[in-house]
Parts: sequence; C-alpha cells; structure tokens
Amino acid sequence: MKKVHGNDSFQRMNYLYQISKHIASKNPTLSSYYGNLIVNVAKKNVLKIHPDIKWQICKKCRCMLIDKETATMKIKRTEESKVIQWSCNTCGAKRNFPAKKNQEKTIWLENPKAIFEVIN
Ligand SMILES: [Zn+2]
Repeated sequence: MKKVHGNDSFQRMNYLYQISKHIASKNPTLSSYYGNLIVNVAKKNVLKIHPDIKWQICKKCRCMLIDKETATMKIKRTEESKVIQWSCNTCGAKRNFPAKKNQEKTIWLENPKAIFEVIN
C-alpha cells in the first residue's frame, strides 16, 4: 500500500464515524460530539469527507442520521424527479437529496467499515 497524505486522519475519521454511528440511537448528543470531531479533523487537515458519510452527518447538530432511529426518511416525488428528505430527530433539520434510480433502499453503502479508504 502506498503512503497517502492524510492517511492517519482518514483512519481517525473512520474510527470516529464508527463510534458516532454506533451510539447514535442511544445517545444522539454524544453522536453529535463525534460528528463534530469528524468535521474538525477534515477541516484541520483539509480533507474531503466521503459524500456517503457527509450525507449521514446532520449539517446542523452533526448527529448521525439513521432512518427510524435518529432521523426520519421520506421519499418525495415530483413530476421530473424524486427526492429523499431526511429529517433529523434531534434538532429537526431537514435535508434533501436527489434520489438516484433504483437506489432508494441502498442509498447508504452496505458496508461502511472501510469507507474512508475508498478515497485513498
Ligand atoms: Zn440534527
């Protein structure tokens, strides 16, 4: 494996993501805390958070958004497009994402364990 700039930070963010997601349903406040850490590590090291992770972090309180646990997911259809709306149960913030075809059920990666390695 070649050495990539920011590799340690990716591992750290990956780790923080695992914890944040794991505790989200039990302790959204702590999940927000770890979500904040992920964003701070990314900012400090000028790293991009993988889009699949970024979507799961509430932009307001930075809690992990998990359907039916810390968030509510709704699919809204308009004539031209389909939109997935996520509402954070912790702070009430709403986010809309365009739904890709046939992706509404598998919008998050099945196995997010190695997600930050995808970027490397
Ligand atoms: Zn929130």
